[in-house]
Amino acid sequence: MSGQKETLTFQAEVSQVLNLVIRSLYSNKEIFLRELVSNASDAAEKLRFEALADDALYESDPDLRIRLHIDKDANTLAIEDNGIGMSRAEVGETIGTIASSGTKKFLAELSGDQTKDSALIGQFGVGFYSAFIVADKVTLETRRAGLAAAEGVRWESGGEGSYTLETIERAQRGTMVTLHLNEDAKDYLESWRLRSVVNKFSDHIAIPVEMLEEPPAPPPAADDDKKDDAGDDADKKEAEKPVPEWKKVNTGTALWMRNKSDLKDEEYQEFYKHISHDFEEALTWAHNRVEGSHEYTSLLYIPGRAPFDLWEREQKHGVKLYVRRVFIMDEADKLMPRYLRFIKGVVDSDDLPLNVSRELLQEDKKIDNIRSANTKRILGLLEKLAKDDNEQYEKFWGQFGNVLKEGPAEDYTNREKIGGLLRFASTAEGDPTHVSLDQYIERMVEKQEKIYYITADNLAAARNSPHLEVFKKKGIEVLLLVDRVDEWLVSHFMEYKDKKLQSVAKGELDLGDLADKEDQEKAEKASEEHKHFLERVKTALGDSVKAVRVSTRLTDSPACLVVEQFDMSQNMARLLQQMGQGAGGPAPTPTMEVNLEHPLIGQMDQEVDEDQFADLAKLVFDQALLAEGGQLKDPATFVHRLNRLILELQNSKSAVAESA
Ligand code: ADP
Repeated sequence: MSGQKETLTFQAEVSQVLNLVIRSLYSNKEIFLRELVSNASDAAEKLRFEALADDALYESDPDLRIRLHIDKDANTLAIEDNGIGMSRAEVGETIGTIASSGTKKFLAELSGDQTKDSALIGQFGVGFYSAFIVADKVTLETRRAGLAAAEGVRWESGGEGSYTLETIERAQRGTMVTLHLNEDAKDYLESWRLRSVVNKFSDHIAIPVEMLEEPPAPPPAADDDKKDDAGDDADKKEAEKPVPEWKKVNTGTALWMRNKSDLKDEEYQEFYKHISHDFEEALTWAHNRVEGSHEYTSLLYIPGRAPFDLWEREQKHGVKLYVRRVFIMDEADKLMPRYLRFIKGVVDSDDLPLNVSRELLQEDKKIDNIRSANTKRILGLLEKLAKDDNEQYEKFWGQFGNVLKEGPAEDYTNREKIGGLLRFASTAEGDPTHVSLDQYIERMVEKQEKIYYITADNLAAARNSPHLEVFKKKGIEVLLLVDRVDEWLVSHFMEYKDKKLQSVAKGELDLGDLADKEDQEKAEKASEEHKHFLERVKTALGDSVKAVRVSTRLTDSPACLVVEQFDMSQNMARLLQQMGQGAGGPAPTPTMEVNLEHPLIGQMDQEVDEDQFADLAKLVFDQALLAEGGQLKDPATFVHRLNRLILELQNSKSAVAESA
């Protein structure tokens, strides 16, 4: 198909991204330059990396650089790099298509509400398409390093639905993106304007960004310097006209190699946007140089906002690996544990070999060391944030808290540190939603030894659960764990600062020294006295319960369901079911605890009709399940049963009225 010009239509998602980008970024046009220069710099880094294995890829042009071309007559601004370039197939795959399944899903979820959608744009890199904020038409010409001159490609589009693709001759490798500027973007043709944008956004790009600069006119030439065959005036003028030269306009050193004290916050933020493709600012960062047995520099950022694909299966890691300033790989997942995959940044090692591969990283001791140092650094940074700036920390927690909760399961060594960073809703006064375990421990009542929690589907279900009744009565705070990942968390995180975490819905209620001796004895006595009743209930309920016993947890509710200490919680069983995972096995059979003080239970005890009794027992069981946020296996039967009882109640009332 070589040479042939094709007209193709954008994928529906691309058109969507284009519209979104143009609409939402119009007031912040200049970021197009950051995005295109970033791409150019990435392309240069990729070339440098591939050339490690194949020197010939440099061709005759080893000095990597980015050039900005202004053409006032043609109204164009072009960004040119001599990086890796793209083949025709690569252009087709990257520009004009959206490869990431995450992006597709994300776009499908857009609401159509402009303001809301615009806020979301920051969640994915706007990338190449930002060119259309300033251009009516974009022409991209490129050739992959290593391919022949005849295998160049031209891609062109007006940004509306379609683009053309053709094979061209292109003498040099790399990419040139030419923007045919729209009416509102003409000021980028002024070199001072362009220069200021480069300084703002791309100063830290490690390769030179160059612009043409007219050297100052030479001083009037002295007579004896005149060329001998004078006479042709025009020729002379031509010769004297200063030739513009390419001049570097950025600092051009990798930012992370610079001294902390020389760097301003804004520079760190710009660098963050460059490496993360995030549109918003980072929350905070840590910049460190490590010397000693092995040496490296790390610059790690905590983003301000979670990316839309944080929960994708093949989540991307955000740390790039460099070796002695040479870019080696993106998404170096060995440099950070999975539960910190949202961290963005750079690690630049002095000691790793340049030809290090992902497989080699797997086994490298140095990498293990870097990872554990990175982890400590980030956890330390978070601790400091939580201490110094709670508002910012809560912002962080809102975005990434659920990822951090994966930590205790993955990282045993730092379990306690992570524990200190966790936040939960709780039953404490004022309904707080961000209680730390340390705060909880501080508020523990006298004789309390455990950290009590309840897991549920949502806050309302947790707050109103019958399991909390005795805790309310005794004024003991209970943490309300309502995120899916919480079940996973508590199955791996069982202790914090020597205090056990205890579910209030598991096992026989063991309040330790908190228990009222009197209550306890009363319950034991009642169990003995009502043995027959408890057996009757068990018979009525059959296999749906493991046992029926007298409760010490309840004050207001007639009954509740509990599972054994080491059983999967009912909530966990529900979650697994929702996820379609029978793999967790069937839900554990609960034990029903009844509140003998409750009038309903008292009445049940009086019931002589066995059928009626069974109906009541089943109703009480179903209620207990509903009250803790569970779902009835057979809701219709529940409703019939309830209606039958209501009617009977009414009938007996009117019978009483008639006989009176
Ligand atoms: P992102 O950079 O976030 O992946 P972009 O839309 O900016 O998204 O770019 C998409 C892809 O197009 C890049 O990942 C890269 O493979 C390719 N690309 C863009 N610009 C260039 C360039 N100047 N040289 C080589 N490849 C490029």
